[in-house]
Amino acid sequence: MFHFKLHRSDPLIRLLPQVRGKYLQNISLARHTWFGVGGNAEILYIPADADDLSHFLRNKPHNIPLSLIGGGSNLLVRDGGVPGVVIKLDSLYFKQVEIGQDCITCGAGFHNVDLKKYLLQNKLGGLEFLCSIPGVIGGSVKTNAGCFGKEVKDVMLHAQIMNGEGKIKTVSVQDLGLSYRSSLFPEDWIILSITFKTSPSTKEKISQILEEQKQYRQAHQPYNQRTAGSTFKNPEGLKAWELIKKSGCADLSIGGAKVSEKHCNFLINTGNATAKDIETLGETIIQRVYQHTFITLEWEIKRMGIEK
Ligand SMILES: Cc1cc2nc3c(=O)[nH]c(=O)nc-3n(C[C@H](O)[C@H](O)[C@H](O)COP(=O)(O)OP(=O)(O)OC[C@H]3O[C@@H](n4cnc5c(N)ncnc54)[C@H](O)[C@@H]3O)c2cc1C
Repeated sequence: MFHFKLHRSDPLIRLLPQVRGKYLQNISLARHTWFGVGGNAEILYIPADADDLSHFLRNKPHNIPLSLIGGGSNLLVRDGGVPGVVIKLDSLYFKQVEIGQDCITCGAGFHNVDLKKYLLQNKLGGLEFLCSIPGVIGGSVKTNAGCFGKEVKDVMLHAQIMNGEGKIKTVSVQDLGLSYRSSLFPEDWIILSITFKTSPSTKEKISQILEEQKQYRQAHQPYNQRTAGSTFKNPEGLKAWELIKKSGCADLSIGGAKVSEKHCNFLINTGNATAKDIETLGETIIQRVYQHTFITLEWEIKRMGIEK
């Protein structure tokens, strides 16, 4: 009997378990993020369903780096790409929706914007704010996304997660440690679905809220541009955009990256930016704001991967 020894010099795909989902090799992540920059994922894995994901987690080699992406609307992928396996819950299984009694359960890969249809059809109020946030449900829970005075933590009842051993658990808001644009739960937890509470409403009321939110965003934020939303968290009691403006950074640009003219806490890829341009622009802003105010801005955007 022959024994084949596999080393890390083998293509990663040969070390991975057979799955029912898809492995895509050397896939550009620029196409999976709103900034539209960054290098390749060594492997992008799209699990077929929760069982497939569990099988993968239980049988993959232990030393393979894993990362997770959602809709890519809060991500800066560096130009050198992401080694290891990047998981995206993008199959239909993870996009299911179930309406319950005063609640709605959405799969982690369900697009926030698609909630609109369900809210209107079923006259469910309370989640209108979430419809206006780009990305998918899993990413929105991880970042405790929020706007218009509400955040995920205010409307979430419980979540289903899978841990690094491929086991599924139901957890509460407290277990996820959600706070302003952040969460505190084990690195190996993958959100599978979320149940949100809803309240009875009317189609007219829901439509009106959705329209007001759209108008507000169009007037105050860059629209249809390559950005990842607010770059920095607001320091307690302060506004990041005010500090950026006060520190003379509102007109800054580096390579193809520039500060948005509409909202200076948004960075824009004007067309040919590299991830390096965007990250250097962000770091330059942090430095200048510190020099002017002695306040250190904290990145809200998640950065992943390696530099080129
Ligand atoms: C134009 C624009 C406007 C925006 N406005 C807002 C706003 O008003 N409020 C706001 O909060 N944000 C805003 N954002 C930022 C962004 O849309 C949110 O943070 C969004 O919730 C991120 O979701 P995503 O699916 O794109 O996550 P991604 O950007 O893909 O990932 C974000 C993080 O979530 C993790 N993640 C993804 N899926 C899972 C999962 N299933 N389980 C565990 N972790 C996971 C990723 O590893 C990563 O760390 C805006 C962005 C843009 C481009």
